[in-house]
Amino acid sequence: MIFDFHSDILVKLANDPSDELWDNHYKTMFQKGASKGGIWAFWMNGYFPENQGVYGQFDIMKDYITNRLPSSIRIVKNKNDYESAFLQNQYPVILGIEGLWGADKYTIKELNYMGFRHAMLTWADTNEFAGGNNDTSFTKLSYKGKEALKEMAKYKMIIDTSHLNDYSFWDLCETIDSPIVASHSNARAICNHPRNLSDAQIKEISRRKGLIGINIINSFIDNDKSKANLKLLMNHVDHILNLTGDSDILCLGLDWLGFFDDFKYACVKEFKDMSEGFLIIESLSALGLSSGEIEKIAYKNAFNIFLNIV
Ligand SMILES: [Zn+2]
Repeated sequence: MIFDFHSDILVKLANDPSDELWDNHYKTMFQKGASKGGIWAFWMNGYFPENQGVYGQFDIMKDYITNRLPSSIRIVKNKNDYESAFLQNQYPVILGIEGLWGADKYTIKELNYMGFRHAMLTWADTNEFAGGNNDTSFTKLSYKGKEALKEMAKYKMIIDTSHLNDYSFWDLCETIDSPIVASHSNARAICNHPRNLSDAQIKEISRRKGLIGINIINSFIDNDKSKANLKLLMNHVDHILNLTGDSDILCLGLDWLGFFDDFKYACVKEFKDMSEGFLIIESLSALGLSSGEIEKIAYKNAFNIFLNIV
C-alpha cells in the first residue's frame, strides 16, 4: 500500500469536461497500484491560457470540489475523515495548492474553509510571495509571503517547501517554527538539481519532524537524466536515511505526470503509471530496508502528518 504525498492529477480531473475520468479510468489504475490516498495539489503556473494562478482557477476548483467530485473520492481534513474514507471504500485526498500565486490571506482562509490543508508559496518561478527554484538570485520571502505563511500556520495547513529557492527556504525557517515538508524533492548530494534538497535542508526538515517525499522525475534522480531508474532513486532514500538516522522523515511524493501530454516521459521508464506502485515497494525492499521501514516510507509516515502537523 502506498500514500502519494504529491500528485497534480486534480488539475486534470477538475478541468476535464466529461467528469468521468476518475471513475472510468484512474480509479482502477490507482487501486491496482495499491494507492491508498494522496495529496492532490492544484498546480498554478502557466498551464492555463488565462494565466491567473489561484485567482483564475478558483471557480473551477470550487465547482469541482463542491459539485462535481465523484463519490468514490473523499476530501479528508483530519484523521477521522481519513479513517472513515477507508471504511467507506473511498479514495482519501488531502487538497493542496502548488503555488499560491494570485492569492492573499483572505483567499487562504477561504481555501482552508473549502478543505485545503496544504500549500506551497511558489511553483518554479518567483512570485509575489517568495523565490521559486528557478530563481538563482537572493530572493527571500516578501512581506506578503510571510503574512501568507503565518495564515497557513494559523490553520495548521501543511507548509511545503519543495519549490522554494534556497534563500526563501531558510527565510521561511526563520519566519515560522512549525514542522515543514518537501513533498516531492530528492537529495542534492546525489543529483545536483535546485529542486533537490541540500544536506543542511534535509537535516532541518528532520529536526522539525517534517517529511520529504521521494520523487520519480528523471531529472531529479541523476545528473544524466537518461540514466535515471528506480535503483538510482534508491540512492536518494539511502542517503537521506544515513544522513538523518531518521526513518520517520521519508515518504513518497511520486509526482507521476503521465496524464499531461507534455510530461509523459518525465518520470522513470519502469514506472509506467500509478498501477505500478508495487515497483516502489520492491525497490525499497531491494535496498535492504526492513518491512517496518518500508511501511513507514510507503504510507505510515505520510498518514502521521495528521498527528504531527494538521
Ligand atoms: Zn512540483
